Amino acid sequence: MSIWLFLLAVRVVALLAQSAQPSQPPTPRVPTRADILRGEYGPYRANNDLLFYHLDVRVDPEQKYLSGKNTIRFKMLQDATRIQLDLHAALNVDRILLGDIPLKYERDSGAVFVDFPEALRAGRTYSIDFHYSGNPVETGRFGAITFKKDSSGHPWINTACEGIGASVWWPNKDQWRDEVDSMELSVSIPNDLVDVSNGKFIGKTDLGDGYTRWDWLVQYPINNYDVSLNIGNYQHWADHLGDLPLDFYALPENLDKAKKQFAQAKGMLEAYQHYFGEYPFQKDGYKLIEAPYSGMEHQTAVTYGNHFTNGYLGRDWTGVGISPRFDFIIIHESGHEWFGNSVSAADVSDMWIHEGWTTYLECLYVEYMYGHDDGLKYTNAYKSKVRNQQPIISPRGINREPPQDQYFKGALFLNTLRSIVNDDARWWTLIHDFYQHFKYRNIMTEDVVAFFNQQTGMNLTPVFDQYLRHTALPELELKWNEAEGAVSYRWKVDEPAFRMPVRAGMRNHWQTLQPTVEWQTLKTPLKKGEFEVATDLYYVTVNKL
Ligand SMILES: [Zn+2]
Repeated sequence: MSIWLFLLAVRVVALLAQSAQPSQPPTPRVPTRADILRGEYGPYRANNDLLFYHLDVRVDPEQKYLSGKNTIRFKMLQDATRIQLDLHAALNVDRILLGDIPLKYERDSGAVFVDFPEALRAGRTYSIDFHYSGNPVETGRFGAITFKKDSSGHPWINTACEGIGASVWWPNKDQWRDEVDSMELSVSIPNDLVDVSNGKFIGKTDLGDGYTRWDWLVQYPINNYDVSLNIGNYQHWADHLGDLPLDFYALPENLDKAKKQFAQAKGMLEAYQHYFGEYPFQKDGYKLIEAPYSGMEHQTAVTYGNHFTNGYLGRDWTGVGISPRFDFIIIHESGHEWFGNSVSAADVSDMWIHEGWTTYLECLYVEYMYGHDDGLKYTNAYKSKVRNQQPIISPRGINREPPQDQYFKGALFLNTLRSIVNDDARWWTLIHDFYQHFKYRNIMTEDVVAFFNQQTGMNLTPVFDQYLRHTALPELELKWNEAEGAVSYRWKVDEPAFRMPVRAGMRNHWQTLQPTVEWQTLKTPLKKGEFEVATDLYYVTVNKL
């Protein structure tokens, strides 16, 4: 997702800092019952495996009203008479059917517990039709679902519901661990409008009542929050990159600007394909769609609201003169096609797998386009945005989004990991294979760590843990004995088994130290003031005692 919310949070923290008190980490909020129902992979979720959704929804722009059904196909993993689905309390459950049989259900905040008259059997596949209707609430970061008008007065309706959850506008199993394998979307809208949703455009059908149904087919697993409506007076143009279809949509008044700006999509795709392999959703194609908020990674239907200008909302986002060379939203949100949409986290707690990796993909884009030194400069510029106040991994099972450090500290950590590997050819193979190994899967940090441990033969667990599960950066303590021409060094860290090499000494003639938490000594002719540490390669603090 975009960092709009986090910019706001940064401003709040800055304001707090101005009030002369050192800014304190926010006090953790006690999870509510609703947080647990939404965030936990509870027994009525774990007893089944999603296979397929067909969301068939009619959208009335004037009444801001939705009505329709989601056909949900799933396989039971154990015998049970109850499953958990989710639908925001503002929307009505009209009926839930198993074939012709109406099912009983019980609502509890956003959860809908569906009860079956007889036990569903492990290993068997079932399909239910969940009919719903109502006026969804506009809430959360980007409004979740917004009913706006464009400057010429046409309805402009968009969804962006990460965080609050897709169940704010349609019924589904609203969690991160389990995804459908494929999905159909049928979106009925007034005849003069266009709907752009995820996947491949199948066709449109005039319903004869002033509405037209637009059908889309998603041929890959998809996150619930990626499922998207973009309804408006869109103009469409098409292009391709090799065999990959590229489709672009913008409002008529922005068409010329959009055609110029969206041309950056090709370079972005080439860069990421270079590092990670083929675009993840080849059969569904890549789409970039104008939207009224900054942007979102909706799978194969990336939304864009960055004012058709480079940088982020017109600014030099990282402040070192590199961001103005490219459109931050195109490069960041599209990077999520690889990390977030293809490789996905199985719990919001581990969202750095989306955001830390995608921020690192920006750094790789810069390296691919402008070379190693600019890549490193761009990466290190993110240090100014890191807070080190809360761990990157947040508590599990309560739908609690991690702090903004998941983006910037996440990327700086991955750059550090590259320096630990200390062999770029090997690093490129590692990250390529990491993506290929986990594509289309939902994973946790433990899976990431196990992969890197296994592939490198190192025990990187304490390193991952220090950066992701603690707040403080590793601190390299250096203590001089200039009379003896020696320096002692050790890591000051939370993880007792932490060991990480670091390059130090004289720039361009680095020596690699192998510090642990125990003091070691190095002979050096360098005085305290001359001795440097390669902090652009390793994200650490240095304390010269
Ligand atoms: Zn993002």
